[in-house]
Amino acid sequence: MGLSAPVMSTLKTPEAIRGTQDIFGADAEAFAHVAETFERIRKLYRFRRIEMPVFEKTAVFSRSLGETTDVVSKEMYSFDDRGRESLTLRPEFTAGIARAFLTNGWQQHAPVRLATHGPLFRYERPQKGRYRQFHQLDAEIIGAAEPQADVELLVMADQLLKELGVADDVTLQLNTLGDASSRDAWRTVLVEYFMAHRDSLSEDSQERLERNPLRILDSKDPRDKELTRDAPQIDDYLSGEAQDFFGKVTQGLDAASVEYVRTPTLVRGLDYYRHTAFEFVPEPDSPAAKKMGSQSTLLGGGRYDGLIETLGGSPTPAVGWAAGIERLAMLVGDQAADPVDAAIVPIGDEAMTRAQSIAAELRRAHYTVEVFASGKLKKRMSRANEAGALAALIIGEDEIASGTVQFKDLLSGEQQALKPDEVLEPLMELTTARAMKDLESEVADLARLIDEDS
Ligand code: AMP
Repeated sequence: MGLSAPVMSTLKTPEAIRGTQDIFGADAEAFAHVAETFERIRKLYRFRRIEMPVFEKTAVFSRSLGETTDVVSKEMYSFDDRGRESLTLRPEFTAGIARAFLTNGWQQHAPVRLATHGPLFRYERPQKGRYRQFHQLDAEIIGAAEPQADVELLVMADQLLKELGVADDVTLQLNTLGDASSRDAWRTVLVEYFMAHRDSLSEDSQERLERNPLRILDSKDPRDKELTRDAPQIDDYLSGEAQDFFGKVTQGLDAASVEYVRTPTLVRGLDYYRHTAFEFVPEPDSPAAKKMGSQSTLLGGGRYDGLIETLGGSPTPAVGWAAGIERLAMLVGDQAADPVDAAIVPIGDEAMTRAQSIAAELRRAHYTVEVFASGKLKKRMSRANEAGALAALIIGEDEIASGTVQFKDLLSGEQQALKPDEVLEPLMELTTARAMKDLESEVADLARLIDEDS
């Protein structure tokens, strides 16, 4: 019977949703590297891992973020479920975490240091670095009123960016919005000032003036920027207490050698911020800024002492930040997958069974193993080399007959016939030698850094 021609499907494949991404290959490795680095660092700072629902009742977000914010008024994915309840795919982590703090009685653990990461959803105009489903790293301290908490979160963010190797052209912009009374007093004079110049504002900012006047300060429109330059500054309205708080934050950053730039026009988009507000932003025209396209912020956050009350809790101080995983991943560059320790190359069916047994044994001993099962021998050996394998374990007819494998050291080219249970020792020697070499080069890098610093 002849082979029939493949049947072409007439069904049209559905497209992925606009603004979502399927992440694969080097991009997926970079993404995983960002998440793993965050996991490692949050443990150094003793943040507890939490897992949160991807959707919440809509009120969780509309009440805490403020009805007038862009996120609530334009960007939420809200829908009625089959029980006619309005639900929303989370557009940010903080509000859901605050809800969980209250509904689970996490007050008993306060102050709690919480960390998580995962997908978020905002109906934004998609472009490079801006998606409708994106992912964030998130760190929050709830129930801590002291500036020490702000400092620790900032030092942790700084360490994360440094360890990811993306800190070079990135600046920490820092501001204070004062306590509630400072913020309100400043807001009143800002509104008066912008009202007096209403006609010179951009159309968007004229609308902001009604709904969310602080946002005029971070407008990119040249007309707004011009007016913002002479606008009243928060510093003139800070209460003594608010000044003292901010002073302690900056002292803490100095003590921990974290550099920052005071940025009086920095306001965060959401209503609930008080005191400290910050963003890590690439310097204009730097290689990092170019890679990120027109999207500028890598990581942002601040103190949100007013939020828990909007959800019906008692006044609870809190501070946190979030960083875009895709944006960080764009900057970390190619991350090689972990190299293979042993490549197994079986020739023939019987050899395949043997390969499976040896592969299982080695993986149980925590070696990274890949079986190269098909294709010409030469091709398979070159794929093993590309995967960074230290040794190839070749199993052909002769090896089946003698109950051995050919153990080939891929660096020296030396080859020997070994019984399967003799493989572990030379493999351990090779992996230990590689680990030592890696360590030496890390130490050399560190020495170079120290040298440059001094
Ligand atoms: P935000 O919650 O808006 O303060 O954002 C915190 C961080 O999340 C930003 O600095 C970005 O790195 C990232 N981010 C926010 N919105 C998006 C988006 N639509 N696409 C990709 N990353 C985003």
